[in-house]
Amino acid sequence: MSDNIIDDEVTVTGKRKQRLKEKKCAFPGCGVTFIGRGKAKYCEEHRKAKYRKELYKKNDNDGEAITTIEHDVDYATKITRVCGLEGCEEEYDITLLPKLNEYPNFCPKHRNQYQRNLFSENL
Ligand SMILES: [Zn+2]
Ligand SMILES: [Zn+2]
Repeated sequence: MSDNIIDDEVTVTGKRKQRLKEKKCAFPGCGVTFIGRGKAKYCEEHRKAKYRKELYKKNDNDGEAITTIEHDVDYATKITRVCGLEGCEEEYDITLLPKLNEYPNFCPKHRNQYQRNLFSENL
């Protein structure tokens, strides 16, 4: 009886034991279970670049706060930008990611409309 089960296990496991884990996609509203290794956070679909943009927009629903930066990096690259708000010369760091072209347009202080209005009024 149990002899058969043991035989099966040996065959299935064999020598090439892969360290794969069952994970749940971290994309909001997805919850698909997938088999991934290492740091994989999203299912195959949500690992595509276009969803990274969506995730970003969700964090900042103020359209103006995003600027498009053309670049050709193929690994995460830190750059320094000057705040896009007229009169503000604050520098801030952003990390360019491959295939992602949308980044915060303002320094951390001016990431919301209220703060920008306040600053402009006091110019
Ligand atoms: Zn997903
Ligand atoms: Zn600023």
